[in-house]
Amino acid sequence: MRVLLVEDDPSLAAGIASALEEAGFLVEWVGDGESAWFKGGTETYSAVILDLGLPGLDGLTVLRRWRQEGRAFPVLILTARGDWSERVEGIDAGADDYLPKPFRMEELIARLRAILRRAIGQTNPLITLGSMTLDTRRMSVALDGNPIHLTPQEYRLVSYLAQHAGRVVSQLELTEQLYAQDFERDSNAVEVLIGRARKKLGNRMIETRRGFGYIIERTEP
Ligand code: CA
Repeated sequence: MRVLLVEDDPSLAAGIASALEEAGFLVEWVGDGESAWFKGGTETYSAVILDLGLPGLDGLTVLRRWRQEGRAFPVLILTARGDWSERVEGIDAGADDYLPKPFRMEELIARLRAILRRAIGQTNPLITLGSMTLDTRRMSVALDGNPIHLTPQEYRLVSYLAQHAGRVVSQLELTEQLYAQDFERDSNAVEVLIGRARKKLGNRMIETRRGFGYIIERTEP
């Protein structure tokens, strides 16, 4: 899950980024509204964490522009404590949730996971697909109840496909979700990762739709 973090306080941004990375997210950070607007308009993100008080374009303006342009990714706004009017404006502008500063990282992560689940219509943090169970809170995967050890990158791949189960996900979309920068985006990287995941999960969990991408089928447990 690739997340755009928009926050102009570098030390807070660094703290949030490392907490998100520890929680299995791929993070891209920008510190001003113009860059945020540009990134959100041109790149693919699963969610955005948006501070409202930013230099240049403020967060509310950026959010309104994204929504006017049809950008539908879920947005969690960070607001100043006690500023209720800012929160109301943020939600009216299209934010999915808000968190007043200062906050605990655990709460930020929990709220981020919740808006991501809502965005894909998944209300339960436990996803069961055939013999596989994926726990999005613990970032763990089990097959027939036996824990499977996945590297962070393998987990991101499997959880992205599992959270979009029943839909074919293109190689390009997977590449964008799994690798932050263009220079890391080698077209073979996803194939290699798929191969490694199949070694651990068996060949039938992730199916290839040649020319279209990859799918984990939605099955009844
Ligand atoms: Ca700020």
